[in-house]
Amino acid sequence: MGLNIVAKETRCHGAIVGSLMNEADILASPRAWRIKWQYAGPIIVVHVAALLACLPWFFSWTGVVLAILGLYVFGTLGMNIGYHRLLTHRGFTCPKWMERASAILGVCCAEESPTVWVTWHRQHHHEADKEPDPHSPLTSFLWGHLGWLMIKNDNSNTASAVRRYSKDLLKDPFYVWLEKSDNWFKVVTISWAAFFVAGFVSVNLTGGTTADAIQFGLSLLVWGVAVRTVAVWHITWSVNSITHLWGYRNYDTPDNSRNNIFVGIIANGEGWHNNHHADPRSARHGLDWREPDITWLTIRALMALGLARDVALPSPRLAAALKSRKLRNIEGPRQRAQSIDA
Ligand SMILES: [Zn+2]
Ligand SMILES: [Zn+2]
Repeated sequence: MGLNIVAKETRCHGAIVGSLMNEADILASPRAWRIKWQYAGPIIVVHVAALLACLPWFFSWTGVVLAILGLYVFGTLGMNIGYHRLLTHRGFTCPKWMERASAILGVCCAEESPTVWVTWHRQHHHEADKEPDPHSPLTSFLWGHLGWLMIKNDNSNTASAVRRYSKDLLKDPFYVWLEKSDNWFKVVTISWAAFFVAGFVSVNLTGGTTADAIQFGLSLLVWGVAVRTVAVWHITWSVNSITHLWGYRNYDTPDNSRNNIFVGIIANGEGWHNNHHADPRSARHGLDWREPDITWLTIRALMALGLARDVALPSPRLAAALKSRKLRNIEGPRQRAQSIDA
């Protein structure tokens, strides 16, 4: 038997969920230590690189500013808008160049290719907190956060899942090219190297020494790439883990999704996750001023510029349910139909 799920029916907030193996079962499994080094390796290396930020030699204010700007440019424009609300849920349409540009920003976050990421996420919505969910934290917090990425399990074997969940992306030669020969990872590597090269060249051109150029280039690599990438990873992983464990629920969805204030803030709107599971296609996750959603404000700006069209807004039916504060058992039909038929 593979390192998959021992289905145990547990009742959770009125919904039946099939829980994954608990952590002790996972670690006792004979296949438990089949580490997925293609993910575990880069995850460890980039975390170690980010820790170099503790050493003053790697510091530069430019690096810090690039890290902060990068959280928005790569995290919000790339992951939240590109990978999540646009490619996965098709919450709006935009010119092809913009869709591809946002996808490339997402690629630079090194969270897998668009095709695989979209597959995992559509699978998550389709089977959230049930047996085939790739990353339910009902197994354990750590499993939902990053264990599922690092230890082999049947739920993230993706070849057949990609064909099932990402038919639309497989029709686009751009996403097929990114997938082929791991070209997406070559893009990641080039984007990371560009930070070092930019820092090195800028010091050289202004008359600095080679040692100064190397120090500045490395400061941009450590802060502008490693610190930012680790932050974006943990923000994404927190949506998978924290917002399926802790927070409040506006809707009685058949999963354990929550609106979590902490993740809502740090993830620029992605933490209003119960709202999102209730209405996955909606491009707006935070429903009022108490649920700030910078990603949605960005999409609104794109609408004003004529770049975002056919924007999926929160369902009036759900808005009415929320207004009357009646929890509704929401099945998320729009997402189910979209995720499988796409
Ligand atoms: Zn979720
Ligand atoms: Zn989603």
